Amino acid sequence: MNRDQQTLKFAADRMLGKLAKWLRIMGQDVIYGPHLTGYGLIRAARQEHRLILTRDGRLQQKQPPDFLFVESDRYREQLRQVVKACGLDPLAQAFTRCAECNTLLEARAKAAIEKFVPPYVFSTQERFSACPRCNRVYWPATHHEKMLAELEIIAAQ
Ligand SMILES: [Zn+2]
Repeated sequence: MNRDQQTLKFAADRMLGKLAKWLRIMGQDVIYGPHLTGYGLIRAARQEHRLILTRDGRLQQKQPPDFLFVESDRYREQLRQVVKACGLDPLAQAFTRCAECNTLLEARAKAAIEKFVPPYVFSTQERFSACPRCNRVYWPATHHEKMLAELEIIAAQ
């Protein structure tokens, strides 16, 4: 596959929820949802020019647009396969997108975030970002570091 990483967008089938979430953590644009299966998945991918990620071996018979058949049922293997097949850099855009709803995050001033995070988090963190769509607040913390470690392992392979 020879595509520009910046313009590559994905449509993950409903069996690939964890993969979709991890690709979003890497900053990749991934649509995912219960309606995205079979022809629903094909329609959505075609409309938005997205590469289909699927575990459905029968999808091929439905004349889909470009797709990548995901071989493993374990998300780490899945992530490795997609990173390799698409030439993605797991770290270049990490933590720029909401893992829940796929929207690009916006930086938020610390003062604006006080009402939305636990007091301990507010007093110990300096940098915050938020999702303008679902209002989820993100900050670098232990959780974030573990994710980063995971992405570094994948990037090194
Ligand atoms: Zn969101």
